[in-house]
Amino acid sequence: MLIDTHCHLDAAEFDADRAQVADHACEAGVRSIVIPAIERANFSVVRELAAQIDGGAYALGIHPLYVQRADDADLDALREAIKQSLGDPRFVAIGEIGLDFFVPEFATGEPRERQERFYAAQLAMAEEFHLPVLLHVRRSQDILLKYLRRHGPIGGIAHAFNGSSQQAQAFIDHGFALGMGGAMTYERALQIRRHAVDVDLSHLVLETDAPDIPPAWLHPPQRRNRPGELARIAAVLAELRGITPVQVAHATTANAMRVLPRLPAAILAGDE
Ligand SMILES: [Zn+2]
Repeated sequence: MLIDTHCHLDAAEFDADRAQVADHACEAGVRSIVIPAIERANFSVVRELAAQIDGGAYALGIHPLYVQRADDADLDALREAIKQSLGDPRFVAIGEIGLDFFVPEFATGEPRERQERFYAAQLAMAEEFHLPVLLHVRRSQDILLKYLRRHGPIGGIAHAFNGSSQQAQAFIDHGFALGMGGAMTYERALQIRRHAVDVDLSHLVLETDAPDIPPAWLHPPQRRNRPGELARIAAVLAELRGITPVQVAHATTANAMRVLPRLPAAILAGDE
């Protein structure tokens, strides 16, 4: 049993065959898919989609690359949506939130201040409602950590993590697991592969970020990533660590349930 802890199954790339994509994932052993929101407009979309698929789960939040077109009313709407979702077993985290300093025009000045303001506001909600966060980390590790230090324990998943060993350890110390996905399947991804091997297995979870971050075996024009690729991603992690895919599946599933404590109920919700 595998858990895709980060998949944008609501993305337009899946409009033509979403049900088949979910079935393919199921056949590949993916028992649960966590679908993060990216902005107010898809809060209800991810909630409804999660309810339609076996083991579906969702997170609510405003993605750092979408805060430029969001405003304070969207934060109020997020707060309301969180309150309304607390009784829903499929609601597991606040996300996708974080900071993205890769795109130069968003890394300085007002756009950057705006990113930090939305991140801080959403972290405060995570603490208030005792929810973990799905963190988007891109050239922003130290600033993300600076804000985390202002709060009590929040924890969650540092999605698509790429940073130094010290930064990895700092996120782990804050109760985060590191999300390992398609980027790890490239031989040139030396830093990510080092984490895949060196970080204690109890701090790793699996993710696809589908339809993005296609693994190495998807060649043009078939570059669309799918949650069903998770089995091969797990096999790569197993090979890198010199353990079996079953060991990877057991450990990463247990880890995902630990850092997303509501996830076991989301998985059971489909069986009722
Ligand atoms: Zn994402």
